[in-house]
Amino acid sequence: MKRRGLAAVVVFTFVVGLTVGLYMNNLETPSPISSASAAPTVKSEALVSPTEARARDFYAPNSETLAPDEMRVIACGTGMPSQRMAQAAACFLVELGNGEKFLFDMGDGAAERLSALQIPYDFLDKVFLGHLHGDHFGDIGTLFVGGGLMGRHKPLRIWGPSGSKPELGTAAAIDHMEKMFAWDIAGRLGQTDIRGFTTDVTEFDYKKPQVIYEENGVTIRSFPAIHAIDGAVSFTLEWQGLKFVFSSDTYPNKWFNEYAKDADLAIHECFITVPDLIEKWRLTPEAALQVGTQIHTAPEAFGKVMSMIKPRHAVAYHFFKDPDTTGPILERIRKTYSGPSAWPRTTWSGTSPGIRSRSEWPS
Ligand SMILES: [Zn+2]
Ligand SMILES: [Zn+2]
Repeated sequence: MKRRGLAAVVVFTFVVGLTVGLYMNNLETPSPISSASAAPTVKSEALVSPTEARARDFYAPNSETLAPDEMRVIACGTGMPSQRMAQAAACFLVELGNGEKFLFDMGDGAAERLSALQIPYDFLDKVFLGHLHGDHFGDIGTLFVGGGLMGRHKPLRIWGPSGSKPELGTAAAIDHMEKMFAWDIAGRLGQTDIRGFTTDVTEFDYKKPQVIYEENGVTIRSFPAIHAIDGAVSFTLEWQGLKFVFSSDTYPNKWFNEYAKDADLAIHECFITVPDLIEKWRLTPEAALQVGTQIHTAPEAFGKVMSMIKPRHAVAYHFFKDPDTTGPILERIRKTYSGPSAWPRTTWSGTSPGIRSRSEWPS
């Protein structure tokens, strides 16, 4: 099974000119090394350490011009509800060749990763929240205050779903966040530019598939997701014939199958396997089944979703990307999906003919 899966990835690499990330590079066979007994035939100048810039096989922030028709998606966070140094929780940045930038979810730890991209904060003013779990909006306060201090001289615009009652909706959550920072904001009055210390919240009906943003040729839709309780949504972003889809958190559902069809880049949650939830996270078997296959999407179910919507490029996220967890996840995905896929902590960029996938910058 695993062998067939890898073959499919390699075929895709050839077809669309994909540069695979660090994970795949590690699987390549190293170049043969000359035997110790052979006479040295290499000219001495070839041994000099190179001093000229070389092509990179990873994405380095602020080092590549985005073409006018290009979309770049950077995974700022792909982790789990629990925090760790190596991987922030859910956050994806979409950059368009027309200069527009959009953040999808703002999970714990993502603000730090975002800051490393060195994008002026005036342009990081649009956030779309899929639901109000901390691992999807826990760093919104950090972006609100930190962005306001670092150059966002306008309100932070936030789109998010309603809940089953007003106090469970995005407007109430952000209102409370601003109140939480009352002392912080009061302490800056008269001492710093506080134009960025305001929000502009658009709360939309979580039940209704609808266009929630339409500006400058960009269309963003929300549609219902099935996750925990009422009030979770997924998104599509369409621009110049390119389609980006982000599930946030969801169990597989008919709306995703309908609206995510034919996506160029489909990012869908894929949780850690049930055996690993029991062994590594110490969940009871009952809790592991509930969390790993009902509240979230199991790897086999992720594969089934992708087999149905057939994206040009599928991305699984929402698990700790460790050597001992990713193998079992890939194996299970390949039981139901053989198409092109990539791993989290990655940057994707592309126009209509192709998508290039690379690892993040080394850290
Ligand atoms: Zn969630
Ligand atoms: Zn989550």
